[in-house]
Order: sequence, then structure tokens, then C-alpha cells
Amino acid sequence: MFDRLDQLTTELEACFASMEVDCFDAARAARLVSSGERVRRLGDAIRTIGVGQVERTNGWKGQGAKSISEWLATETDCARYEAQSVVVLAGQLQHLPVTQAALRSGTLSGAQAVEVARGAIVAPNTETQLLNLAKHATVRDLRDASSRVVAAATDEAERHRQVHKSRYFKSWTDLDGSFNVKGRMTVANGARVMAALKPLQEEIFKQARKSGAHERPEAYAADALMALCEKATNKQPSETGTKSIRPNAVINIRVDIDALKRGHTEHGEICEIAGVGPIPVATATEYLGEAFLKLLVMDGTDIRTIAHMGRAIPAKLRSAVEERDRVCQVPTCDMTMGLEIDHIVPFAEGGAASLENLVRLCKRHHLLKTHDGYRLIKIEASEGEICVAKETRWDWRAPPDLKRTG
Ligand SMILES: [Zn+2]
Repeated sequence: MFDRLDQLTTELEACFASMEVDCFDAARAARLVSSGERVRRLGDAIRTIGVGQVERTNGWKGQGAKSISEWLATETDCARYEAQSVVVLAGQLQHLPVTQAALRSGTLSGAQAVEVARGAIVAPNTETQLLNLAKHATVRDLRDASSRVVAAATDEAERHRQVHKSRYFKSWTDLDGSFNVKGRMTVANGARVMAALKPLQEEIFKQARKSGAHERPEAYAADALMALCEKATNKQPSETGTKSIRPNAVINIRVDIDALKRGHTEHGEICEIAGVGPIPVATATEYLGEAFLKLLVMDGTDIRTIAHMGRAIPAKLRSAVEERDRVCQVPTCDMTMGLEIDHIVPFAEGGAASLENLVRLCKRHHLLKTHDGYRLIKIEASEGEICVAKETRWDWRAPPDLKRTG
């Protein structure tokens, strides 16, 4: 059996070695990437399934490693966190044969399998739904859905307490002389950190774009942290009376009205900080009334019904669009910074400022849509799919005279 596997692997290696990738045109280069992905998925699946069996047979013991993840990290030259995640997934897959089969057949990537298994292991009845979701949703959306499943299945207050107990913030200097930080805290506290950073990050991003600089969002987040520290250390002596330059930090909490009344969530209900993760209803209630909070109550008086027939977008509607569209809504675009609100049916053509007609796009896609004839076409969700916050999916179409899409 291994002779055959070794032979095929050697053939695969020889095949790749003989390819003159430098001479590939764009189409062949793209095809090579998708071939690579197929091989990678298979490799991931073989490694994960293999690790499960190594664990069951104690195959890692007696070789100097303190744990199976340490053994795996040494054996496959991967980082410890990666090894840990493979070991956890391998253990979970023993109880999730359908997910295991999807990973083995290549329909599920390793990253998707991690998310599906994380939810399905605590609530097995959600396995099929999560697997269906994985077919079309981004890994980010899948992670959100899994977090909701986990939150619904565990005692929220206890989980919150445990996470809070394990909180830390530590720093160290690396061998290359760089300063590094790492931290862990509850979602609720993390959201406050991010809410303080986000407006500064947006501001730094806008200024960078104006001057023609293009850097990663994480780089601007680091700049935002510096800006925040500067503000804390250079406090103006007279902070009252003068115009406040304090950033407008906003945390969007989405919570089902019934959960809010009851004090905890029940199956399928949501209580989460948009874009960060689930929080206990008690924490959401604690935040109520604080100046920085905008509460978006799902159901009941649905924010979706607010429509405004002017060019201006009411603040409530704007924050609903912002919390719904956390990334540029063009499929495959992952831009989260400098997003602009677009009228899907243009205002000039009678398009309303309503939640259905507004969408957030990155600057490039907004320009393409406004001036170059690109369009967003709504894709109707099929029945039986797990609901990602009543999300709409879009198809991005080039104008008829252009073949390639942006
Ligand atoms: Zn975009």
C-alpha cells in the first residue's frame, strides 16, 4: 500500500519538477495554483487522518516529545499552533464521520474542517448545516456560524468566566530585536479594544491612501495602537469645553429581542458583538446605556424596515449596513478598510437608502460599479441553509463588453 503511495508521490514530484513554470501564461499559472490546492488539501487530509491514528496507537511516544503536538511539529517542521490545531481536529474527526469523509474527499479544506468540527463536536445536530454552509460561505462566515453554535451549546456565563480567568497580555523582544505582544481576553473586552482602535485605523488608512501609500490593514492597526498610546500619554490639561477629538468608538451588539428579555440565549438565537463573537446576554445588558453602544435589536422593530428616500443615509441605517457588511461585498474581495456605502440601484434612478439597497464596497470596486458598468446581482439563498445573519450573497458581473471580471 505504501509502495503505491510513495510511487505516486514520487511521480507527482517528478511531474512538478519538469514543469517550466516561468513560461506559463496567466491561465496556466492559475490552473497550477488550483492543482496545487488540490494536492495541498489531500496532503492536509492524509496528515490529519494519520495523526488521529498515531494518537490512537500511541505512535508518538518514546521519541522524546512531551506531547503528540510537539512530536508533530518536529516531525513535519510546522509551527506549534498549527500542530495543535491538527491534533485537535484529528481527535474531533473520530466522532464526526461525515466531516471526516468531506475532508478525505477534498470537498473540505483543512481550515474549513477545523471550523465545522469545532461547532459539530459540541452540537452534533449542526454538522450537516455547517457542512452545507462551508460549500459557499467564506471561512470567516463559517467561523462566525461555528462560534454561534458553540456559544449556544455551552453555559455562556461559565465560558465567559473561564476565558476571563485565563486573560493575559504579555510582551517580549524577539531575536531580531522586534517588540512583540500577545494577548487573550473575553470577546466583550476585545471588542472594546477594537472599537477604540478602529476609528484611528480608518483615519490612518485614509491619510495613507491620500498620499499614495498602500500597506496591510494589520500595519495600520499597529499605527492605531501607537496613536491611542500617544493620546493616553499626551493628555491635554484642559479636556473640557474645547472640541473633543476623542474617536467615536462604536460597538455593535446584535441580540435577539427574546434573548434580551429572557436574559440568556436559547437554540438559534444570537447575542454577539458584530464581527467579534458571541457574548453572554448579561454582558450585553451590562453595556446597555453606555454612551458608545448602539444596540441593534434583531427581530421586533427590525432595522431592516428603516428606509429613507433621500440621498443621505440615516445614522441608524448606516451602522446597520456597517455591521452587516464587514468586508467588501464583492465575492472574493477581502478588503475591510476604507469601505464605502453604495446604492445598488443608484439614487438617481430612484434607488432608496434602505438596508436592501445599500451595500459596502471597497474603493476600487465602488469605482468600477459607479463608472465602468460593473453590477452586483443578488443570488437567492436555497432552502435549508444555516442562516448567517440573513446574509445576502452577490454575484459580481463585468459589463457585457468586458470578458474578465474584476
Ligand atoms: Zn472590493
